[in-house]
Amino acid sequence: MARDESRTEGGRQSREDAAARASIAVRPGEFQHRQHRKSEKVFELKGVGVRYSGVPAVKEIEMDVHRNDVTALIGPSGCGKSTLLRCLNRMNDLIPGAEVEGELLYHGENLYGPSVDPVQARKLIGMVFQKPNPFPKSIYDNIAFGPRILGRKENLDETVEQALKGAALWEEAKDRLDANAFGLSGGQQQRLCIARCIAVQPDTILMDEPCSALDPISTGKIEDLMIELKKQFSIVIVTHNMQQAARVSDRTAFLMVELDADEDNRWGRLVEYDDTEKIFTNPTDKRTEDYVSGKVG
Ligand code: ADP
Repeated sequence: MARDESRTEGGRQSREDAAARASIAVRPGEFQHRQHRKSEKVFELKGVGVRYSGVPAVKEIEMDVHRNDVTALIGPSGCGKSTLLRCLNRMNDLIPGAEVEGELLYHGENLYGPSVDPVQARKLIGMVFQKPNPFPKSIYDNIAFGPRILGRKENLDETVEQALKGAALWEEAKDRLDANAFGLSGGQQQRLCIARCIAVQPDTILMDEPCSALDPISTGKIEDLMIELKKQFSIVIVTHNMQQAARVSDRTAFLMVELDADEDNRWGRLVEYDDTEKIFTNPTDKRTEDYVSGKVG
């Protein structure tokens, strides 16, 4: 029988430790960027689920994503964070056998409605991946790629400069715009990918573990960048790094894997979604507390 640790001295101690650790993660005053938040909804998810070849990966997700927020999706591996993120710009359309159910509104309109062009949607809702994926081209051509495809060829130099400045890469790249992007460091390549994304003027940027392949200094730069970028864009980030979610996000969604009665089938469920400060300091659900305090992985 499972021991009720909360009744024991050790259990109480570990809960106190967890609370202390959580309060270290979110220090009041350190997160000025969370002030003056707007509440306009970019996405409204109503009973959203995804199946791969008929097998559910996430079920019944209910949450709203707000404009100019950084929204973090956290939870153990396999709980459906990336799957859920890909729903937000119809990237799951590209996976054979993937089906999205429920209702997903983007600025009040059905993102999966018949009149929505998924390619157009992906321009407005850009994506940055775990591993930086620059094209085998010059730094300049990487950034100019999207605007050129869209026929926005006027003031291209200005567009490239603004995108690189927006991604905090201009100073490092301005004297080597013709150099191959593969010559940049990993962290610089990831900022290049962010610059490439913002060059087509999206409204939202989705980031799937954008720092997991980066060193701590590069990670810090991307985190600072996110806080800067959210003034202009809405950002949804998948991260397995809870300190990162605590540092950069305004709202956090915690997902967990749920098993059916026979434990044959598993899928991701949203356990709790709230202001990041609440999730990390005073979550409503015990499972959230256990996860953010590191008691369960
Ligand atoms: P997380 O990002 O939380 O680690 P994922 O969204 O990657 O979780 O995966 C959720 C579930 O969906 C897992 O069971 C995974 O095996 C399954 N899954 C993810 N991508 C695919 C895919 N392309 N085809 C089939 N199953 C997938």
